Amino acid sequence: MTITELTALLALGSIALFVIGLKRLSRVRTARSGNALMAGGMLLAVLITLLEIGLVDYRWIIAGLLIGGGIGVAIVLRAQATQMPEIVARFNGFGGAASALVALSLFWLAVVEVPRELTTVDALGGTAAVTLVLSVLIGTATLSGSILAELKLRGTLSKDPRVPLRTAVMGVLVLVGLGAGLFAMFTIADTGVAALVVIGVVVASLLVGIVLVLPIGGADMPVVISLLNSLSGLAAAATGFALSNQLLIIAGTIVGAAGLILTQIMCVAMNRSLVNVIAGSFGEAGDVEHGEYGHVVSADAESAAMVLEAAGSVIIVPGYGLAAARAQNAAYDLARALIDRGTQVRFAIHPVAGRMPGHMNVVLAEAEVPYELLFEMSEINPEFSQTDVAIVVGANDVVNPAANDTPGSPIAGMPILEVENARRVFVIKRSLSPGYAGIKNALFEREHTVMLFGDAKEMLTELAGEVTQAR
Ligand code: NDP
Repeated sequence: MTITELTALLALGSIALFVIGLKRLSRVRTARSGNALMAGGMLLAVLITLLEIGLVDYRWIIAGLLIGGGIGVAIVLRAQATQMPEIVARFNGFGGAASALVALSLFWLAVVEVPRELTTVDALGGTAAVTLVLSVLIGTATLSGSILAELKLRGTLSKDPRVPLRTAVMGVLVLVGLGAGLFAMFTIADTGVAALVVIGVVVASLLVGIVLVLPIGGADMPVVISLLNSLSGLAAAATGFALSNQLLIIAGTIVGAAGLILTQIMCVAMNRSLVNVIAGSFGEAGDVEHGEYGHVVSADAESAAMVLEAAGSVIIVPGYGLAAARAQNAAYDLARALIDRGTQVRFAIHPVAGRMPGHMNVVLAEAEVPYELLFEMSEINPEFSQTDVAIVVGANDVVNPAANDTPGSPIAGMPILEVENARRVFVIKRSLSPGYAGIKNALFEREHTVMLFGDAKEMLTELAGEVTQAR
């Protein structure tokens, strides 16, 4: 068997691992092994690439692995668990940057090595030249957009300034980047001019990412994060075309398509259309509604536990505050204490709860909450009206009735978990401060709502202790 035949066979194996892994990711129960299969597919793809390129100076590869791996390990080791969404945003950006850098180096090699009388297209071919420009454009825009998204998630950038004529500005920037890139490909074989044009393309692409993400904030962030995830995959696929590397094309397309599907899911969760997202008309909701609270009832863990002890059914609604307090184990402890008493306990998962897509599934899986106890919004919403107690743990926007009854609210039209239909609502949070969207939540003033002020982990631990003691 020749090396070419061997690599083709291994490539088929790697693609099969990606496809089977992706299929397994679609079910919570099989997602973990799906992830491992896809990681195996990626490892195989790296080995195949090393086999394909044959004799190279491995010192560069080892140096790259050490530096890149070292940065990755340092970032993850220094990060708190609550910073996971920001890190995911940053890694999206790194993916885009890696694709853009590979494309840039390919372009540069072509410019330097091509004889003066030939253009880069002559050296690389039309498809490679065009996809190379696309890779630089998409990858660099993903980098700047992801950095902005990270700053917003972290709260460093709390404003969402409007960009006048945003769609037109973005259109012009894309045309400038694309035009300059193609101009360089089709006409220039001079390194000095090529360097200038490349800088122009990179600057235009960086601005595209900034203009795309700058005005988006509040409750619309999940959409933009999924979109950036998809763009990082598309940049990798474009680089795959430029390098004629099928594996990179397939891996990039899978990430691009998965990100696009996630974007669609987030759009549905936010009640925004994908066309609106691409046209850039989201994040432009009306004025933020603040406001004083009227009558708010609060209680301590002991009296809340007495209500829970009498309840036949309980739904726990986790939100960002549960992840921030690392209260997932305490939440499961309370659930188990109630189940042991014969209470029916379910967890209700809102698709945009937390700060990254799938955030609640990840934190609850960490506490090994059984999948049978987790229910999606569409399944659980009809159940609230037959439920004795809904316990909202560090969630705010995803249970805010303003989404249904306040037109002009930044979250207007967003489907919410309809906890107020339960007979009694407990809300665990530290104060009456707003959630990510920065708006008042009238749920806290409802007659049947009781606020349990405190840190989520401490309050849940106290509740679980009280319920256990009462047995
Ligand atoms: P919210 O951000 O609406 O509310 C979280 C609440 O948690 C706050 O009101 C806060 O109140 C409380 N909290 C914080 N720390 C603690 C703690 N230690 N103990 C108890 N409570 C705590 O969260 P939701 O999950 O309801 O909604 C998610 C929001 O984030 C949506 O607007 C969504 O669009 C947005 N978003 C989602 C992303 C995603 O991909 N899922 C990405 C980016 C944004 P207090 O300070 O009073 O304790």
